[in-house]
Amino acid sequence: MSGRTIDGRAAARLLTEGLTAEVTRLQEDGLGVGLATVLVGDGFSSAAYERRLRRLATELGVRYLPRTLPGTATEADLLAVIAELNAAPEVSGILVLRPLPAHIDEATVFRAIDPAKDIEAVHPENAGLLALGVPRFVPSTAASVFHLLDTWLDQAGEDRTDFYHRSLIVVVGRSNNVGKPAISLGYHREATVESVDEWASRTGNLGRHTRRADVLIVAAGRPGLIKAEHVKPGAVVLDVGINPRTGPAGRVHMVGDVDFASVAPRVRAITPVPGGVGPVTDVWLLRNTVTAARPARALVEAS
Ligand code: NAD
Repeated sequence: MSGRTIDGRAAARLLTEGLTAEVTRLQEDGLGVGLATVLVGDGFSSAAYERRLRRLATELGVRYLPRTLPGTATEADLLAVIAELNAAPEVSGILVLRPLPAHIDEATVFRAIDPAKDIEAVHPENAGLLALGVPRFVPSTAASVFHLLDTWLDQAGEDRTDFYHRSLIVVVGRSNNVGKPAISLGYHREATVESVDEWASRTGNLGRHTRRADVLIVAAGRPGLIKAEHVKPGAVVLDVGINPRTGPAGRVHMVGDVDFASVAPRVRAITPVPGGVGPVTDVWLLRNTVTAARPARALVEAS
């Protein structure tokens, strides 16, 4: 990481090195690691995520078990696939890619995942453990945001505990998969945390909140939502947004929720898109899969 830009790719490379060693250790102990992904339909972003995970799993020597269902699949079809993966000893972690088609109830599907294989902590048991501050798994996106923040603090020579105790963290976006876990992780570091969603924007109050943030975490899925006037000078900004944009030649590229060009000169540190939170999230998902491998296999062996 150098200058103001927090380099997510470099952080992801370091994490990957550590994981490669852990996968080797597991294999030496006779334990396999397997990641199963379930993709329903052909959403652009989820299909791209699935391809990245496939590449990374292969690179790490993690067994990759993709399941693809047509967009017309029923909830019962999907629950049958999850039951099969729950029972498969070669599967350590299960990821159901979002969004699911509207006719499938996400909460029902998440409740069906074996909590011991629920690497994104979407099952109520795991979401509850996270909220209580005793997570079994930390959802990969929020984990990545705080990993980048913690690492940046270390490199900046800041005392983490002191920094969090005196900081206001504002989280823009309150989804179950990103915003809420990020709020929990901020609380667990004993920071003051504020959460805003689209009503802050609709009522014209977004800037009133974001301008007070020492740390601004943005996960709204709105390209360029945060501009220079929304940010306190010297803040640290973590941009979670990944929004596809079609360029003049018809090529699709990704942009964040933060207008990097206007915000970067104002802040102490900022993650870019692409190359910020995204690459770390991918590795963290594999990290959770590796974490799941030991207890999952131990349970199977004991039964
Ligand atoms: P979501 O649609 O489930 O939730 C969006 C949240 O943002 C909601 O709480 C909504 O109220 C809020 N919001 C929407 N418009 C707003 C506005 N104008 N002002 C303030 N708040 C607003 O989305 P999500 O799944 O949480 O994802 C958010 C973004 O993060 C998307 O761009 C997604 O692609 C990206 N994402 C990135 C990663 C990563 O690894 N970097 C991982 C997951 C999601």
